[in-house]
Amino acid sequence: MQEFDTVIGLEVHVQLNTLSKIFCSCSTKFENPPNTNICPVCCGYPGVLPVFNKRALELAIRVALALKCKINKKIYFERKNYFYPDLPKNYQISQYKMPLGENGELSLRTGKTIGITRVHLEEDAGKLIHKENYSLVDLNRTGTPLLEIVSNPDITSPQEAFGYLTCLKLALQYIGASECNMEKGSLRCDANVSLKNKGASALGVKVELKNMNTFKGVRDALEYEIARQSKVLGEGGKIFQETRLWDGDIQRTEVMRSKEEAHDYRYFPEPDLLDFLVEEEFMEKEKPFVKELPHDRYKRFLDIYKLQESDTDVLISEKFIADYFEEAVKEFNEPKKICNFIIGPFLEQVNTFPDRFQSVKLSAQNFSKIVKYFSTGLLNNLAAKKVLVLSINNNNDIDEIIKKEGLSQVSNESELKGLVEEAIKENQKAVKEYMDGKEQAIMFLVGSVMKKTKGKANPKVVKELLEKAIK
Ligand SMILES: [Zn+2]
Repeated sequence: MQEFDTVIGLEVHVQLNTLSKIFCSCSTKFENPPNTNICPVCCGYPGVLPVFNKRALELAIRVALALKCKINKKIYFERKNYFYPDLPKNYQISQYKMPLGENGELSLRTGKTIGITRVHLEEDAGKLIHKENYSLVDLNRTGTPLLEIVSNPDITSPQEAFGYLTCLKLALQYIGASECNMEKGSLRCDANVSLKNKGASALGVKVELKNMNTFKGVRDALEYEIARQSKVLGEGGKIFQETRLWDGDIQRTEVMRSKEEAHDYRYFPEPDLLDFLVEEEFMEKEKPFVKELPHDRYKRFLDIYKLQESDTDVLISEKFIADYFEEAVKEFNEPKKICNFIIGPFLEQVNTFPDRFQSVKLSAQNFSKIVKYFSTGLLNNLAAKKVLVLSINNNNDIDEIIKKEGLSQVSNESELKGLVEEAIKENQKAVKEYMDGKEQAIMFLVGSVMKKTKGKANPKVVKELLEKAIK
């Protein structure tokens, strides 16, 4: 079989995190009943005028900065003429000749850098709901601000495409630009894929893939398409430039249409929006948000906290966790212990809350106090977890909770001595086994003392006292 190189480029559309649409003041909340977030502007009535949403521009600039793009300070919109049944103007306001950002890059976890061709602003279309013999249209989504992010064809495998999407999503979430929720449609991805003879410089004919609803779907669709194209080419056939739809149920792509060229869209300047220059000051305000991206933070965490890579991955996976961890370490400088308690009991709790971190009221300072008490032996494992559960939603005083619930661990030898003697008297069999060399038998005695203190004794101290007493 002939061998080919794979060439992949991705086009990602992300919804910018604004409260209102890009050219009118309608809400961007989609959960509302169909056609309730609409106005004459997003319905494309004659005579209405679009007004550009400043917040959309702020967030778009933030993304362009995060992706290290060269930013075009002149903001210039064009009309992309196309009949969309769910975009009633019959054109989409977009940026073509002069995208907001160009020539950027994104670093992957593997160390490879993927070039970003361009990022540009545009409006979303609505939603069509197809019934048996009629269709419904919901315009709530029409006019939602989108940023299209186009990568260079630098990606060489489906797995690398998956890695790119993961890194991009994390970066966009980190800087607060988008929720990147594929299920809610706030991140969508199309892929261009072609094959060329191994080592050749000339590119093959590319096929565009659409309709992937998950990152895994993107990877699966690419895998299928690479196998399909390689079979066609291997048999001496031809690949046609076309758009194919991924069908996740049957795991294959089907032809949707032959690909249009840019000139088919008859782009021309949007006469209803004046072009303007973005001031330096306006851009400066976005820079603090892109100071440290997740990839850089990952490297820094490995460097200074010396944790395992897999643990660092979890800490970095959401900005809240990474910030919380760093705050807690400032108070109690035991990164490994803080990390363990976050990845264990803390996330276990958070994952039971429907709105996750929004329910967390416990300050990182108070959280670090719990970890500190646990590591110094004031709280045992169970008690520490209990304090966490009792404070995570309210940030109540940790010391008061411990006092009120009587949770502090008993380490005082004189308090424990009597109970240790009792346990020895009551469990002569275990004592004998221990003296005969069965080391494990002592744990039975420890358990007995723990029971007597309702779990509050410090097991380490108890064990030492038992050993001393038996000897
Ligand atoms: Zn509107």
